Amino acid sequence: MIRANENYNKLKASYLFSDIAKRVEAFQNNHPDRPVIRLGIGDVTHALPKAVIRGFQTGVDEMARDATFRGYGPEQGYAFLREKIAAHDFQARGAEVSADEIFVSDGAKCDSGNFQELFADDIRIAIPDPVYPVYLDTNVMAGRTGEFKDGRYESVVYMDCLKENGFLPELPEQEVDLIYLCFPNNPTGSTATKAELEKWVEYARENKALILFDAAYESFIRDESLPRSIYEIKGAREVAVEFRSFSKTAGFTGTRCGFTVVPKECMIFSGSGEKISLHAMWNRRQSTKFNGVSYPVQKAAEAVYSKEGQAEVKKLIDAYMENADIVRRTMNTLGFDTVGGENSPYIWVDGQGRDSWDFFDLLLNKASVVCTPGGGFGKCGNPYIRISAFNSLENVTTAMERVKEALR
Ligand SMILES: *Cc1c(COP(=O)(O)O)cnc(C)c1O
Repeated sequence: MIRANENYNKLKASYLFSDIAKRVEAFQNNHPDRPVIRLGIGDVTHALPKAVIRGFQTGVDEMARDATFRGYGPEQGYAFLREKIAAHDFQARGAEVSADEIFVSDGAKCDSGNFQELFADDIRIAIPDPVYPVYLDTNVMAGRTGEFKDGRYESVVYMDCLKENGFLPELPEQEVDLIYLCFPNNPTGSTATKAELEKWVEYARENKALILFDAAYESFIRDESLPRSIYEIKGAREVAVEFRSFSKTAGFTGTRCGFTVVPKECMIFSGSGEKISLHAMWNRRQSTKFNGVSYPVQKAAEAVYSKEGQAEVKKLIDAYMENADIVRRTMNTLGFDTVGGENSPYIWVDGQGRDSWDFFDLLLNKASVVCTPGGGFGKCGNPYIRISAFNSLENVTTAMERVKEALR
């Protein structure tokens, strides 16, 4: 008899974004004359930069001729891309990362979801609340979380991110082995200073723990004093893995490219305490289960690092950040406390006691604006909503005018 992995039954029944889609569809069917503006799902809206398109096309053209055709590429990604990533994203900022520590992939969702399979079943995991659901759900599927009771999984150590702690996770009271961190944060938009990350690196070093650091939004950081990579912190190479993505940075959500950094010094441990190279394990995992990212896509990603590519990507991000500014100011003017939007494309709005789904419904029904109810990201996501800056300036401006009208 073919039996199911019953850990899947422990997943919360509905997926946040399908719930939202249902409510939006119902609204649109009842009010066809009131087109909605979507500031909900974290997907970019502007076209790929021209330099990226040229890189993509070069790759496609090469595939069209026997002389330049490429078959299977290296599972870790082509050296031309890994070298640019290492030089530009890390070495230029004083972070010691070499090209052979970078694993190019089809995105940070897969990598941040897959990485947990390198660890034992009974490790203790610390996860922020609210959180990007991938970290939690992949551990549920793997059977690491226990049952879901009263809005939480029994065996997970939750790190509450609340107004009182500036929406920053605090060091857990009990000892944990694996820590998920994401800065700039999705969904709250909060950021961590160097001192904040130093605290985590020190904790991980003292407790032989590992940090999985999601830096998918690093390119939105404006404040030059904020770290963009965990490897800007001394000692992080031994205790941290970093996930990055071209999705939000360069508009690759539909093109698919990201990468994971696993430093050679990063060690985990056998049951008897012997050191095991995490780099060797991830390399083995990827070589066995992954066959690389398509050549044209890697050429497109390489073009992000060209002079034109850099200028265009900057313009793209500037445009989203202008939107973020408009959203943040509007909500503040209306009397709502917010976090995020200054170094991140998300604005986390305190609903002043409203249930987050009620706030979501209010904005949908009165302003025809779609946001994301914070409750979908965890217990501590109530009473907040997340408003995303990923849309056109025109749509964001209209949306905020409607919100002003609705909430005045
Ligand atoms: C969007 C996002 C990613 C990137 O996912 P891709 O699979 O690279 O598109 C990773 N982490 C977080 C927190 C995100 O919001």
